[in-house]
Amino acid sequence: MLPLSTIEQEVAKRRTFAIISHPDAGKTTLTEKLLLFGGAIRLAGTVKARKASKHATSDWMEIEKQRGISVTSSVMQFDYNGHRVNILDTPGHQDFSEDTYRTLTAADSAVMLIDVAKGVEAQTKKLFQVCRMRGIPIFTFINKLDREGQNPFDLLEELEQVLGIRSYPMNWPIGMGSSLCGVYDRQKTQLELFQGDDHKNIEVRKVEDYNDPIVKEVAGEFLYDQLVQDLELLDVAGDPFDFDKVMRGELTPVFFGSAVNNFGVQTFLENFLQLAPAPTPRNSTAGVVEPTKPGFSGYVFKIQANMNPAHRDRLAFLRIVSGKFERGMTVRHVREGKNIKLSQPQQFLAQDRDIVEEAFPGDIIGLFDPGIFRIGDSLSEKEELRFDELPTFSPELFCKVTVKNALKHKQYQKGLDQLTEEGTIQIFRTIGFEDIILGVVGQLQFEVFEYRMKNEYGVDIQLQKLNYQFARWIVDEKVDPGKFRINSTLVKDKNDNYVALFESEYALRSAQEKNPTAQFLPTAP
Ligand code: GDP
Repeated sequence: MLPLSTIEQEVAKRRTFAIISHPDAGKTTLTEKLLLFGGAIRLAGTVKARKASKHATSDWMEIEKQRGISVTSSVMQFDYNGHRVNILDTPGHQDFSEDTYRTLTAADSAVMLIDVAKGVEAQTKKLFQVCRMRGIPIFTFINKLDREGQNPFDLLEELEQVLGIRSYPMNWPIGMGSSLCGVYDRQKTQLELFQGDDHKNIEVRKVEDYNDPIVKEVAGEFLYDQLVQDLELLDVAGDPFDFDKVMRGELTPVFFGSAVNNFGVQTFLENFLQLAPAPTPRNSTAGVVEPTKPGFSGYVFKIQANMNPAHRDRLAFLRIVSGKFERGMTVRHVREGKNIKLSQPQQFLAQDRDIVEEAFPGDIIGLFDPGIFRIGDSLSEKEELRFDELPTFSPELFCKVTVKNALKHKQYQKGLDQLTEEGTIQIFRTIGFEDIILGVVGQLQFEVFEYRMKNEYGVDIQLQKLNYQFARWIVDEKVDPGKFRINSTLVKDKNDNYVALFESEYALRSAQEKNPTAQFLPTAP
């Protein structure tokens, strides 16, 4: 057993975060630059390769099979300035799924990446809501400053109007697009300037404040006047920097930069590492579990099926909450009520797997899973504790599923039960007809379901897209199916709760008006 101080040191140096953004905002590019700062050049190449494989969804299974791992979120780790950084990847595009949301529960903070021209986009908004629900600190990087974009004040206004979060700009652009001169760092009172024609190098110049004559000299009169005007306005009308508000996710520090030009990325990383929290505690049946609490504990937030049919095994992704993890250790599988030996732990470096000998709170490890884990399972070395259940998310896409060969019904039922339990999809049954409707948050989940039904259970299924967009769990003593007829249907979830599916916001609103005493919840009560 290690002296506690070692664990404390390991905890203090860790930062575990996820990058949330809309596709094309530059997440892959930013991740690559961050990994480069950590000296993980090989990984940067890997991230690129991964990027190049953004194929149509149908190609994707093949690709994943070749890679042998990780359809969805993976974890990247690097060291920088004495810190150990874990980046949780939150896939976008066609890879978006409930796993993306669940991954956010394993992060202690989030970096929100925004395209300077496009502002807050749909997927950013969805992912932001999950971070908001958890109250984790959110850091904003406004990217692509080398392109013409929106006025920075308009972007801050958008953060507040659309997301409801106030902001504190850590730096401020001097020009933008073709006239980009650099940024002014409000904390360090220094200029960071683009150098040369290719904008690849950065020159840093320390100044007294933004009224320093050097600023005017390098920015030119026009940009200087604009900068002074903007900064004066920020000083007077902007929010002051408040660390506690940042920690509660009420105020987001904002950084402007350009990931592809590696401009502003290092400053961002250094500030982020300084401000972002070390691994945070989690709630459990035994109370709050601090990372430094003696004894290893953690929970499974994602289960990844192996896409290679020769290997039925799966990987369970575990977030370490407390204590030290050591290869070969025996821990309590709390739900099953038995002890298990963790002999093949794996860690993720982009898509490469490595065996891990030891790991600490904030780290994510992959556990070989012969089918014993479920999402939300707790493992604990000392105490019988269970971490809080992972939240479920409101499905937005729906399909009716049928089996092509009726003789396969038994396998089909088994597959349905197991895949639902794993959290691959949510299922609903129509009342009376017992038709099965699948609900998901991302198209990918349907594809995974179809693929696994065929490959693991030998069942060919047919999916028929339905027009519903919203699911609402109805909490009401007397549910009258007759009241859910217009562009909606009433179904039951796997626990026999009533759920109404709606084709439009209008249909949802009119049902609410007709049933004023009922509660319409976006997830299961
Ligand atoms: P992702 O979909 O969020 O992972 O975005 P990518 O990292 O793939 O970036 C999308 C596109 O934006 C790529 O063509 C990048 O080269 C480009 N890009 C990323 N950062 C910047 C930037 O700072 N400036 C400009 N002009 N383009 C960028």
